[in-house]
Amino acid sequence: MTTEDMTANDLRRRFLAYFEERGHTIVKSASLVPHDDPTLLFTNAGMVPFKRTFLGEEKRDYVQAASSQKCVRAGGKHNDLENVGHTGRHHTFFEMLGNFSFGDYFKALAIEMAWDLMTRVYGLPEERLWASVYEKDDEAYDLWSRNTGIPEERIVRLGEKDNFWSMGDTGPCGPCSEILIDQGEAIGCGRPECRVGCECDRYLELWNLVFMEFNRDESGKMTPLPKPSIDTGMGLERMAAVIQGAKNNYETDLFMPSIRQIEALSGHAFRVSPEVDVSMKVVADHSRAAAFLIGDGVLPSNEGRGYVLRRILRRAIRYGRTLGLTRPFLHQTARKVSQVMSAAYPELLESDAYITNIIKGEEERFLATLDAGLRVLEDALDELRAQGASQVPGDLVFKMYDTYGFPVDIIQDIVRDDRMSLEMKGFDAAMERQRFRSRRDRPFYPEGSAYAKLSAQGIKTDFLGYECTRSDSQVVMIVRQGKDVEKAEEGDEIELVTAGTPFYGGAGGQVGDRGRIYGQGFEMAVSDTLKDPNNIIIHKGNILRGQIAAGQTVTLAVDEDRRLAIAKNHTVTHILHAVLRQVLGDHVKQAGSLVAPDRLRFDFTHFAAINEETLQKIETLVNDRIQQNVPLETEEMLAEEAFKTGATALFEEKYGDSVRVVAIEDFSKELCGGTHTDRTGDIGLFKIVSEGSVAAGVRRIEAVTGTVALGLAQKAFHTLNALAETLKTKPDELVARVEKLMAHQKALEKELAAIKTKAQAEASDQALSDIQVVDGVSVLAQEVSVDTPAALRDLADNLKARMKSGIIVLGSKANGKVLLVAVVTKDHLETYHAGQILKEVAAVVGGGGGGRPDMAQAGGSKPEKLTEALAAVYEIVAKRGAYRQET
Ligand SMILES: [Zn+2]
Ligand SMILES: [Zn+2]
Repeated sequence: MTTEDMTANDLRRRFLAYFEERGHTIVKSASLVPHDDPTLLFTNAGMVPFKRTFLGEEKRDYVQAASSQKCVRAGGKHNDLENVGHTGRHHTFFEMLGNFSFGDYFKALAIEMAWDLMTRVYGLPEERLWASVYEKDDEAYDLWSRNTGIPEERIVRLGEKDNFWSMGDTGPCGPCSEILIDQGEAIGCGRPECRVGCECDRYLELWNLVFMEFNRDESGKMTPLPKPSIDTGMGLERMAAVIQGAKNNYETDLFMPSIRQIEALSGHAFRVSPEVDVSMKVVADHSRAAAFLIGDGVLPSNEGRGYVLRRILRRAIRYGRTLGLTRPFLHQTARKVSQVMSAAYPELLESDAYITNIIKGEEERFLATLDAGLRVLEDALDELRAQGASQVPGDLVFKMYDTYGFPVDIIQDIVRDDRMSLEMKGFDAAMERQRFRSRRDRPFYPEGSAYAKLSAQGIKTDFLGYECTRSDSQVVMIVRQGKDVEKAEEGDEIELVTAGTPFYGGAGGQVGDRGRIYGQGFEMAVSDTLKDPNNIIIHKGNILRGQIAAGQTVTLAVDEDRRLAIAKNHTVTHILHAVLRQVLGDHVKQAGSLVAPDRLRFDFTHFAAINEETLQKIETLVNDRIQQNVPLETEEMLAEEAFKTGATALFEEKYGDSVRVVAIEDFSKELCGGTHTDRTGDIGLFKIVSEGSVAAGVRRIEAVTGTVALGLAQKAFHTLNALAETLKTKPDELVARVEKLMAHQKALEKELAAIKTKAQAEASDQALSDIQVVDGVSVLAQEVSVDTPAALRDLADNLKARMKSGIIVLGSKANGKVLLVAVVTKDHLETYHAGQILKEVAAVVGGGGGGRPDMAQAGGSKPEKLTEALAAVYEIVAKRGAYRQET
């Protein structure tokens, strides 16, 4: 195989095989949604899943690993979104190949293997390869020079900015070293000072080797790590481009199938006009991110990860529009991605129907407002251009966002060539005003809200409920009928705010606490507790006795049993979430939840119904975790600490707020402000009650815990026992017993049907004896007792068969109505018409009807006239016969 024939799949496979042969454990790509770092928006590097191993917080049963990791850089700190499409190397989604040593081999072997793989396995020309090292890292310099074929003039020393890496402000850090390829003067900027480190594409970085050598403490002091580690990263797309001789990443076999498809859909050709190329690159890139993100359980929404996905989808749709793609197309290009990537990620193809469904829904929603929005925006921009404006006003940006669903990126893309910037301050202010309005519009917010006054003063309730369920505090505000009042008395329905409270205000799916608030002669029953968006906790309830005034000190006591029941159901949702991911896959993501004292509801992304067996497995695994009885650990950090790791878009929290990370060993880690049990064992028992669908791609599990689960099991057991007793058997033999009973019942039904048929025959024998002959025609008119028209017809048919020749009219009283049927045998059809005969008969019982000449059915409303009607039959036949014979 020549180098240029190497596909991206070959490249990935050879990388992993190379390190596997050298004792590395091949680790499957982790989800794009990091499960053990809830503060990180997306997995954005190969080392992310190993972060805790590098920090020494997690032990693995291997010390060398290699992986090809799915990564997304969009939103948060690493935001490449607006560059994607305009360059050949930026992507929202990419794969990172890497080998890792956790305190095992270090610089020498890392460099040796990297060089060997690049030159021997990938066949890159040695004479074009360069290496960079950190300026003070003589060790790495010497290793390159001694152990590889690189001459010293192609080893460059670079400064801290390029070649020193750190995990954060504190923690592991160290020098790094890169392998670069010289793509030739033709590719470069052509400036005389062009060399390694230049911004242009001539010296392209291919592989970064990080030598984690030191630990940096808070004062900035670096001490050598006892066991230095290796973390390396090589972008698959870039490597594929170099090996396949492509000018940029898009011209590799990773992207070209998508580009070809976009050409076919749009009728435009790639590599003809720069504008068209940008659009095609955006669509090709974003289709990949969309397919992989949705495959990992992210759904488009207005916050956090979901909003990043929505921005990516909408940006692609807008660029598709510039290619003339005015109907939904992105779900098709995403399906192509699933096909192209299926060799390495077969799970993508398995959830293909789900992924395309979600994308198509988003396309239809956005296309509905896109045209109108673009018109409004272009008109406004024309005006601004005419004025020579350099900024797009924040109000306009907000209007586009709010009315037409345009993410800010889209407006940025549109004004890119105008060199206009967006006035983000104005946008943020408009956004803040809207948030305020939506808060005010909440149902329990009275107009001119009393609470807005409190938050304007910077007052927030101190939540004490993580530590206790009872405490004393001062009344800050009393609200009665929407108005801020000085005091309230017995019988009043009020809302009460205190400086601090152990009461949990309903949020994040967990319902609010109930309990009592009391003081000197005063007692209030709290029926619900709410939390407003500014973290003011509001107790709602009824004053049972006494009076209360602002400024007084009261004792707040949460209903502890209820709180504990809620905590059990809450804690178990964390376990359930983790178990679902373990059993069903990484695409499982929480889509909603309700945590009440008596039950819990957990909604999550998943493609199909869960069968009984799997559901039982999930239930068992959750109960296993409960029985392990491990403690829950809570880490509090300031929102800004979390922001630093790239979580900007993840929270509604503001700077200064603290966020809580709740962990159950290394098994579950979630950002959560709710109240939990101390240990998993406190949950007692977990029982799933139902599983079903709530929306496309969203499933719901309902379950119970603790004494409710016990009660449920006891009740079921009791029912079984009672049933067994009634059936005189043992519970274990119930199924067999019931099956036997049902078989017996079937036999009885069959027997009964035979008896009925026999009785009917006997009844018709009886009837036949009542035949009268009118004008030589046998006529039978008789009342019978059957209760459905079908049965009446059957009886008439039966009599007809036995009579062979004649006219039959039967009547029956059923449910206060009359049923009638008339039959004329074939040999009398020339003269008689069943429908006409019955019409006259029915008239007597206050009904109507008719039918065919040989058979007719009718009804009537006067059962008391049935005898009279049937008696008239003979006359009608005689009259009809005479009439017919005359004509
Ligand atoms: Zn250059
Ligand atoms: Zn929680």
